[in-house]
Amino acid sequence: MKVVVVVGGVGGARFLLGVKALLGLPPIGPGESEHEVTAVVNTGDDLWMHGLRICPDLDTCMYTLGGGIDPVRGWGLKDETWTVKNELAAYGADGEWFGLGDRDTATHLVRSRMLRAGYPLSDVTAALCHRWQPGVKLLPMTDDRVETHVVVDTPEGERKAIHFQEWWIRYKAELPAHSIVPVGAEEAKPGPGVLDAIAGADVILLAPSNPVVSVGTVLAVPGMREAIRKTAAPVVGLSPIIGGKAVRGMADACLSAIGVETSAAAVGQYYGSRQCSDEGVLDAWLVHTGESAEVPNVAVRAVPLLMTDVGATAEMARAALEMAGLTL
Ligand code: GDP
Ligand code: CA
Repeated sequence: MKVVVVVGGVGGARFLLGVKALLGLPPIGPGESEHEVTAVVNTGDDLWMHGLRICPDLDTCMYTLGGGIDPVRGWGLKDETWTVKNELAAYGADGEWFGLGDRDTATHLVRSRMLRAGYPLSDVTAALCHRWQPGVKLLPMTDDRVETHVVVDTPEGERKAIHFQEWWIRYKAELPAHSIVPVGAEEAKPGPGVLDAIAGADVILLAPSNPVVSVGTVLAVPGMREAIRKTAAPVVGLSPIIGGKAVRGMADACLSAIGVETSAAAVGQYYGSRQCSDEGVLDAWLVHTGESAEVPNVAVRAVPLLMTDVGATAEMARAALEMAGLTL
C-alpha cells in the first residue's frame, strides 16, 4: 500500500510513528515492509538565521522518525548542549529566542553548505535522511523558498509582518495576528516526486497537524490542492482540534487569524469536500470520540484521536484507512 501523509512538525511526526507501526514498519528507523509511506512536509516555517538554513518541520520529522528527537522538548536533538547559542547571545546576535542546539547546528551547517553549492532542498533532505534513516520518504512540499509571515502589531505599536517562527516562539503567538501569509507560495512549485506520490497513492492522509501553518501551507503551493482533488485515492483528514482546543500548542491563534473557529467541525469545513466545492480536499474526516461534526459531503466518524503512545496513534491510522475503505 502506498500511503501519502501531509504533515507539519510535532503533530505530523508523531502521527507518522503510528502510520509506520500500523504498516508493520518499526516506528523508529528503517525497516522492511511491502508498504511505502511518503510524507509531504511543510517548509513554510523554514528560515535563515546566522547564515544557516533551518527547516523546523523537516527536522522534527527526520529526528523523530530517526530516533534522535528530544522526547521531552518534542523538537531538536536529545543530549543537546547550547554552547553556540550562548556564545551568539554573548555577541548580542539577533535571534536569541530561537532554540539552536550545538548538535542541531551540525544539521543546519550541512544543509546550508549543500544549498549554497546549488543542491535543491529535496536532495539535501535525502542526504540528511541518509544518516537518520526515518523509514519514510520525507519530501519537502517545494524546493522553492516559501516563508510564512504573520502581520502583527508589535509591543511598540507598529504594524508589521514578522516570520512565523518569531511570532510562534518569541511572542508565543500572543501578539494578535491580522493575517498569515505564505510568502513566495504563489510562485512555488511542488517538490520533486510530490505530485507523482499523490497521483500514485492508495490513500492520502492529512495528519492532525496545524491546519493553517502546516497543512494549509502545503495546500497553498500551486498544483498541490488540485493534485489532491483529482487523485483516485481517497483523502482522509484527522482533526488536530479536540474539545474546541488544539491538543498541544497554539493552533487556535492561527485559526482565529484566518477567521476559522477552533473546532473539529470548522476545521473540517475549512478543508472542505472534494465533491461539493472548488477548493475542498476531503472525502472523510475523523474527529475525537464523543464529538460530532457536520461537514457537507464528507463522511465523518468519531474515534479516539489522542496520540498518547504509538499504539494509540497506530489505531488512529487504522481508522483513517478504514474510512478510505482499505484494510491491511
Ligand atoms: P508543529 O509544526 O510542530 O506545530 O506541528 P504540526 O503542525 O504537525 O502539529 C501541531 C498540531 O498537532 C497542533 O495543532 C495540535 O493540536 C496537534 N496535536 C498534537 N498532539 C495531538 C494529539 O495527540 N492528537 C491530535 N488529534 N492532535 C494533536
Ligand atoms: Ca511547524
